[in-house]
Amino acid sequence: MSEFKALLVSEEQGQFTRRVVLRRIDELPAGEVLIRVHWSSLNYKDALSASGNRGVTRHYPHTPGIDAAGVVEASAVPELVPGDEVIVTGYDLGMNTPGGFGQYIRVPAGWVLKRPAGLSLRESMVLGTAGLTAGLCIDKLQRAGLTAGAGPVLVTGATGGVGSIAVAMLAQQGHEVVAMTGKADQADFLRGLGASEVISREEMQSGTGKMLLAERWAAAVDTVGGDILFNVVKSLRYDASVACCGLTAGGQFQASVFPFILRSVNLLGVDSVEQPLVAKASMWDRLSLQWKTDLSRLEREITLDQLSDHIDTILAGSMTGRAVVNLG
Ligand code: NDP
Repeated sequence: MSEFKALLVSEEQGQFTRRVVLRRIDELPAGEVLIRVHWSSLNYKDALSASGNRGVTRHYPHTPGIDAAGVVEASAVPELVPGDEVIVTGYDLGMNTPGGFGQYIRVPAGWVLKRPAGLSLRESMVLGTAGLTAGLCIDKLQRAGLTAGAGPVLVTGATGGVGSIAVAMLAQQGHEVVAMTGKADQADFLRGLGASEVISREEMQSGTGKMLLAERWAAAVDTVGGDILFNVVKSLRYDASVACCGLTAGGQFQASVFPFILRSVNLLGVDSVEQPLVAKASMWDRLSLQWKTDLSRLEREITLDQLSDHIDTILAGSMTGRAVVNLG
């Protein structure tokens, strides 16, 4: 098959349009591994790429999709052979390299992981970059001393992809989870994932002018950034940590040194994109075995044709859970 279906984002007179089109395999960039993609997933970054954000994607027309799972069709390296089931997340996939919103990708072998033993290709994309990121956040918090029973763990942006998986995974591991959301009508959804308490975004937005807030959190996973992140820092318990991975509320915040020098708290950065492949493999193994979590309540399956509407939804901050893309 030399033609395949892909979502193509094009720039026309300053406007970005999205269409499902037929592309040719010989239009893909050079690379060591050609993969027939069966599953992908929708992440916030894909929506930025699909709406013309030059910080994510410089050149259009372009096919987004930072996650892909499928079967090797051709390979120039001995470690990967046709028929191998594989996943690719992050690096340049879907940014300036045509991504998982097309039925074929061609990528460097150094981006490709064999499907983790405990996950189907579809399950690996329900997790996708969001699940990998949630896992890396929890791992970093546990390395910094978080244990089950330590007290409430806050998750911000809790109904989103990273947030909802973090809620489910933390709850399954025995943590008391407090979910912060802007969606008052999604409290039951969050409780169903394992949150013991749901608080409003407004609650975490107040107190921005104060140096410190009451000590509440044994740890936090922050997916939203902005001044909410620093309010989280100010309300961490003594010696506690927040893992910072996202920016839906903003890329900047007002800060002071006081929480750090008076409460010994830690602000931990988390990146899932450029992690060395060996580190990704180790986290995927954990996600597929010890940390395997039932995500059926938070996933929905969509087709390539339904992607554009979901991109608008995630851009509006209205998405709940994960959309897994079936590419056939
Ligand atoms: P989603 O859109 O699925 O989730 C984001 C959530 O943030 C929303 O559902 C909403 O949750 C909340 N939110 C949206 N707008 C605002 C706002 N203006 N103020 C406060 N909260 C808001 O995105 P993802 O889960 O895919 O990604 C979350 C963030 O993490 C993004 O910024 C993304 O770029 C980043 N990310 C970073 C990675 C890394 O490697 N560091 C990897 C993956 C993602 P609610 O309504 O419940 O409050």
